[in-house]
Amino acid sequence: MRYISTRGGINPISFKETVLMGLAEDGGLILPESIPVVEEKKLKSWRGLSYPELALEVLSLFADDLPRSHLKELIFKAYASFDHPDICPVVKKGPVWILELFHGPTLAFKDVALQFLGNLFEYLLREQGLKMNILGATSGDTGSAAIYGVKGRQNINIFILHPHGRVSPVQALQMTTVTDPNVFNLAVKGTFDDCQAIVKEIFGDLTFKRKYHLGAINSINWARVLAQVVYYIWAYFRVTEAEGIEYVRFSVPTGNFGDIFAGYIAKKMIGKGIEHLILATNENDILTRFVNQGDYSLGQVKSTISPSMDIQIASNFERYLYYLYDEDPMRVKEAMVQFARKGKLSFEKAETQKVQEDFYSRSVSQEETLATIKQFYAETGYILDPHTAVGVRAGLAFRNHLPMICLATAHPAKFPEAVKKALGIDPPRPAALAELENRPQRFELLPAEVKPVKDFVAQHALT
Ligand SMILES: *Cc1c(COP(=O)(O)O)cnc(C)c1O
Repeated sequence: MRYISTRGGINPISFKETVLMGLAEDGGLILPESIPVVEEKKLKSWRGLSYPELALEVLSLFADDLPRSHLKELIFKAYASFDHPDICPVVKKGPVWILELFHGPTLAFKDVALQFLGNLFEYLLREQGLKMNILGATSGDTGSAAIYGVKGRQNINIFILHPHGRVSPVQALQMTTVTDPNVFNLAVKGTFDDCQAIVKEIFGDLTFKRKYHLGAINSINWARVLAQVVYYIWAYFRVTEAEGIEYVRFSVPTGNFGDIFAGYIAKKMIGKGIEHLILATNENDILTRFVNQGDYSLGQVKSTISPSMDIQIASNFERYLYYLYDEDPMRVKEAMVQFARKGKLSFEKAETQKVQEDFYSRSVSQEETLATIKQFYAETGYILDPHTAVGVRAGLAFRNHLPMICLATAHPAKFPEAVKKALGIDPPRPAALAELENRPQRFELLPAEVKPVKDFVAQHALT
């Protein structure tokens, strides 16, 4: 399998090169040259597999430059850290199916990909005699999942900036209580936007970037998308078996177009079994406007009770655009240049119709989100986290005779404030969060400026 850039500016590369490159060198995103279609016979043979076995089958189609036995080891080790035997269990609750993606160490779906990516990085760095210093900014979930993905690993240090006092207490503790020597939490006296701007500027200093082998771990990395494709196929098997029906819909709470893009790839691979994907947004509704009206125009970021979806620029959108534009990289490039200039893209009716062949979309307000948590709990006794609730509400709006599978992207205990607001009770705390307050913490408090962060990285980087 060879990989190309959405903007057409790189020579085809291998899977291993793709993982280490992250963002394509021409500024585009990396995609496989073609998406393998899984024929019916093979699909049938996958049905009885365990989650890690299925992951091995799916990933080996894309990661064909890794020996299968090595890939198997990386996958099985990644999912050994999950606290449920099914890894991603699918449970029927009231009118919908819930795909629980929060059984990893940090209780959000990002663990599904980042536990694997941490193993993969370590493997590739060792093989190629390289070192990497990961630098990233987080508003909450990505930081802790990335830290848990690489803590204690060889040849990798990780530096995560978070806005001091501006992430939820649970989220902060999940990061700062990891005291492995290769983990550096930088609490920045500023906002998330400040953190992101600092990281962006440091990555822009190419001399510094090369000298310190800076690496990124955000959702532009193809390996993250790929690892997420697996749970769509997994859930499709579980629910079609249980319901005796060959078609399903998925509802996906999304901000970056990351998780739902993985669903789109799964849909391309297994064909019409995935009938539609429901794209659920909170009040940051740029993607909903895109699907429903062909209007992809930037608004102001609004803070909501589902903060991991408070995003306006959807970093994986460009990957989808490549397919919408019939795999024409020149059109993608033009569109992205225009978007950078005007903050807006418009789509013709025929294009919007094409989008709607795969996606329906709805934006869910904060009041609706709280009401959904409340009603769902009253009807089923099951507590939704606010992100999952956005997906459930949108999913219910597009329910027909087909089973609706709603992705549960976080455990409710990660967002106790929203749950308390909706239900008046605290969600039960799972073992992963027990005693969090009593564990030793380690973090560095820094001003919101580039120089002190750069100095800190230079002092503590692997070289
Ligand atoms: C990151 C995150 C999302 C959104 O994921 P996308 O990559 O934007 O699709 C949704 N819910 C939770 C809990 C998250 O952490």
